[in-house]
Amino acid sequence: MTVISTDEELLLFVLNSTPVLDGAVRDLLADPAEARSRLRGLGGTGTREELDAVRSARPLLQEVARGDRPADSLAPLLVGVHQAPQLTATRLDWSLIAPPDHRSVARAVLSWAALRESAPGRLRPCANDECRLFLVDRSRSNTARWCSMATCGNRLKARRHYSRMRTEP
Ligand SMILES: [Zn+2]
Repeated sequence: MTVISTDEELLLFVLNSTPVLDGAVRDLLADPAEARSRLRGLGGTGTREELDAVRSARPLLQEVARGDRPADSLAPLLVGVHQAPQLTATRLDWSLIAPPDHRSVARAVLSWAALRESAPGRLRPCANDECRLFLVDRSRSNTARWCSMATCGNRLKARRHYSRMRTEP
């Protein structure tokens, strides 16, 4: 079983916070109270300032994750972010040092970078181009294409099926 870190959960929450529902883009961060409580649940401060920081970093993260921008466009989001070593009796830990309201953005960027190293190419946009969600493919075959088989996978299969029926005499 793969253990998903809170940082990765936070990254996916931010990347997937603009889903398309009934043909229209919905912003899951639009309701401040709800968004702040989600961020708090994912280890953030839940402040107004944090929400603003996450909202302004979101399009950049989405464009980089979609491959529309180079990775170093995220570098400005890591200005002022440091890691401090902490030696315990049994291991070496690194703790993130960043302004409290910027920590969530930094965690999302670092999680994206860590995924790129540990699982290259596995964070990808859903193959349904009308869908704006991202997926992390953890399958052995690395062939997952849709955010969800139940929604996008079946919809695209049905569409292909009908267009085949239409072109066949
Ligand atoms: Zn999808």
